Amino acid sequence: MSEVLALIDKLSRDRSLTEEEYEIVVSGFSPAAASYAASLASSVRASYYGSAVFMRGLIEISNYCRNDCLYCGIRRSNRSCSRYRLSPSEILACAEKGYGLGFRTFVLQGGEDPYYTDAVLCSIVSSLKSSFPDCAVTLSMGERSHESYAALFAAGADRYLLRHETACPEHYARLHPSSMSFSNRMECLSSLRSIGYQVGCGFMVGSPYQDASCLARDLKFIESFRPDMCGIGPFVPHKDTPFGSFPAGSSDLTCYLLSLIRIIYPPVLLPATTALGTVDPMGREKGLKAGANVVMPNLSPVAVRSKYSLYDNKICTGEEASECVSCLGSRIKNAGYQLVVDRGDIRKEI
Ligand code: SAH
Repeated sequence: MSEVLALIDKLSRDRSLTEEEYEIVVSGFSPAAASYAASLASSVRASYYGSAVFMRGLIEISNYCRNDCLYCGIRRSNRSCSRYRLSPSEILACAEKGYGLGFRTFVLQGGEDPYYTDAVLCSIVSSLKSSFPDCAVTLSMGERSHESYAALFAAGADRYLLRHETACPEHYARLHPSSMSFSNRMECLSSLRSIGYQVGCGFMVGSPYQDASCLARDLKFIESFRPDMCGIGPFVPHKDTPFGSFPAGSSDLTCYLLSLIRIIYPPVLLPATTALGTVDPMGREKGLKAGANVVMPNLSPVAVRSKYSLYDNKICTGEEASECVSCLGSRIKNAGYQLVVDRGDIRKEI
């Protein structure tokens, strides 16, 4: 057995490797290593979740953003981005439609838009929770203060997604302007955890300047943080950003990392992301086979879909939510899984 396969084996026994070992596993990526990792990941995923795939209704509430992340199409400096924000009643209407389609989790995602003060966002969260008491509300609204996260949790938010973007501080500094800091991002994650949220971290695969040692640190961070959710997808360039001419990340490497993350922390909720479906037409199906168990179809109004453009050529910007659900449902079935109507909370025990 090769060194890489032996380390993957060790990972599945111990759920832990050193950073140096993770680096060997990442740089030893090959079709054989990927299929070995995927087979271990699939079997452990099946023991926690069977063939169920959870769906989250993504509502992209605003593309205004005060930040200037170098990779992101809705960064503040992008003058070509046509800005929009949804009103509380538009957000409620998206959820209403989603509920009818079987969604039991709503994810509100957006740029860091100062319009959504604690008062505004708390009132949106509490109306969602009172209109749909059997649903989970996930927020993905970037960095806020501890007090703000606590107020939103008290208003009923169940989960928070905040990708760490990279666990390497030097790499973080090359992806973000100097006004943003790695330490604040990490502090936000620990605040969210201490408040009681189900917390999601994550990173892009193939972002500019990323190397195997960055990815090894990401895996080591995931091993120690044990996130409830972990969002990973390939980096996809956006033409109006400083990274517009960098190549996109690889779907095969993304799938390999999905498998490794599933092996590291078997109960984790792992989405097969839209970015993965964008770089590879069968990307989401491949992601599920590699160990993912969540999909996040878009519930945003079709009129604003193409404006929430984090990267170029994003899929599913033209379809109504109902079309997305039926298309995805049949793709998932063909891949051997089943889309379920469920909040899709983490199952920490088998
Ligand atoms: N403002 C929120 C939501 C950000 S958008 C926050 O800060 O968390 C959600 C995720 O999209 C980001 O965390 C980032 O990892 C991803 N993303 C942004 N630009 C991207 C790109 N060009 N390619 C792939 N993913 C991207």
